[in-house]
Amino acid sequence: MSRTAGLLRSAGLSLLLILSVGAAESPLPADHRALRRTVSYAEMTAFLEGVAKPGFITVTEEARSTEGRKVLLVRLNRSGGNPQSRARFRVLYYAQQHGDEVAGKDALLTLVRDIAARPSLLPEDVDLYLMPMLNPDGAEAHRRLNGAGADLNRDHLLLAQPETRALYRVARRVRPHLAVDSHEFGRDGEAYTRKGWEAWPLITMDACNHPLIPDYLKAAALEAVTSAGPLLARAGHAYRRYLVGGPPPEEELRPSTAEVDDGRNGLGTLGALSLIIESGVRHRATEPQADLGARVDGYRLLYRHLLGNRAWRDRVRNLAERARREPLPPFIATNTFWANVGGKVSAVKVREVATGRVLEVPTAMAMTDLVVKGSVPTPRAYAIEAAAAARFIPVLQAQGLAFETLAAPRKARIERVKLLRIEEPYDELYQRYKDRQLVERRPQAEVELPAGTLVVTLDQDLARRAIQVLEPCLLYGLYGYPGFRELARPGADLPVSRLF
Ligand SMILES: [Zn+2]
Repeated sequence: MSRTAGLLRSAGLSLLLILSVGAAESPLPADHRALRRTVSYAEMTAFLEGVAKPGFITVTEEARSTEGRKVLLVRLNRSGGNPQSRARFRVLYYAQQHGDEVAGKDALLTLVRDIAARPSLLPEDVDLYLMPMLNPDGAEAHRRLNGAGADLNRDHLLLAQPETRALYRVARRVRPHLAVDSHEFGRDGEAYTRKGWEAWPLITMDACNHPLIPDYLKAAALEAVTSAGPLLARAGHAYRRYLVGGPPPEEELRPSTAEVDDGRNGLGTLGALSLIIESGVRHRATEPQADLGARVDGYRLLYRHLLGNRAWRDRVRNLAERARREPLPPFIATNTFWANVGGKVSAVKVREVATGRVLEVPTAMAMTDLVVKGSVPTPRAYAIEAAAAARFIPVLQAQGLAFETLAAPRKARIERVKLLRIEEPYDELYQRYKDRQLVERRPQAEVELPAGTLVVTLDQDLARRAIQVLEPCLLYGLYGYPGFRELARPGADLPVSRLF
């Protein structure tokens, strides 16, 4: 749809809303477990505008999508006039980056509805920030991509889209201690269906796992993944850690990617206990939303579990704030992969569709150990060639990274990195991982950096993010992306050097 058509359509929808939906009318059934139909953009907007209450529930527009729809942020807090006490526990729950993955959004809206009716459901020390529908254009079209045809959950490195930029503006303003992304996966993919099975879990969760995120933060996030088990079991929901992959025993199963182009690792790098929830949908069912209420219930239980009690919140806040001050490690992992160290055999549950029976299938293909295959010493800074500055500046700005543009030449000790080649093959499992960058580090040399060179030092607040964006030795780096691919020629130096 063209931008004009989109705007006209939005205006039409707003008019329709005024005519047909009372502002405070909830599109949600009294019992969320009875939900059979997802809440639309128009219904959500009307509901949130109706439920807003100064000093308690505030709704702000953080961006406009390509087609002109609002990306909304809801803040719920009971601190009244006392705005920014640092002792508060700040939480950011966001959903529907993929427009056709709906349950997280619906669960968040039921939370807003319930807290609006009973404020005591929200602990007094919690500032709860919600972005229930990050991709309103995709939601309206019931498709994964946004209005510009981009996959938002692969855009967290470049932040080229208005929706992802808005998420990071909010994240840097709020600095959440806890951040949770919300998605859905298919339970009845072709490989499962062929075997007469479906994936067992209704709901799953996984933690941030990037090597630059301090271990204690990742460990606490994984602990939350595990400790949710009994709660979900009591509610009768099939739950496990999120694993990507096909049916056991032959197909490989892995946790979420260790890359930085998604929300889980992106916000984890900013120093949040960062997780992803994925609920399972039966896409081939006559009515895929028949169990939407159950998925929403699973989401709500996990959202509440992660809020925990006061002791848990104090612990998470301390860990998150410690992670933000944590000195950089001496080495940067540049090449990692998931493996099964020692060939452990684990039992993976599947459900037999004809009988409803749950089978435990032994497999040695669950790759849950993250292996570091390559690393480089951490530099003091990165230097970006003047000729490439125009490409890099929008990314640095969108990521909130500080940089200096040299006004005069400056002597420096640098290590250039030569691109050997870019390898193309694509990883079907993760729907990513093409464009592996194979490079060669050159010996360090004293040079004069010309005026116009950008220097990004690693003594800044978001140094870990700077490394993820700029480190030229990363196996999966910037140069697979359009706009950056052209800057990398096999046999020539990359435009970013490592500065010591
Ligand atoms: Zn998704």
